[in-house]
Amino acid sequence: MDVSRAQVPLGRVHVIVERCKQCNFCIDYCPTSVLEYSPDTNAKGYHFPVVSQGKETACVNCRFCDLICPELAIYTTEVEAEQTA
Ligand code: SF4
Ligand code: SF4
Repeated sequence: MDVSRAQVPLGRVHVIVERCKQCNFCIDYCPTSVLEYSPDTNAKGYHFPVVSQGKETACVNCRFCDLICPELAIYTTEVEAEQTA
């Protein structure tokens, strides 16, 4: 295997704002600490996750946030797959 050619996937985060209940799971368990709460709230008054400033290329598309969210409020897509689709 040529390690120099190995690439870490780049993910794009999508949040369905109105589903979020501010449970913290996605923020606490993201392995690359991509997420933080928006200062804004949804219609129910919950802060929802956004990508932190400076972390725009830090998501590795592991999908852990998607799997752990009890409200199905967050998911990711692979950026390269989007561009070549
Ligand atoms: S896919 Fe993984 S790295 Fe990207 S925001 Fe979700 S938990 Fe973090
Ligand atoms: S895990 Fe889901 S419900 Fe919890 S803060 Fe993240 S997006 Fe909101």
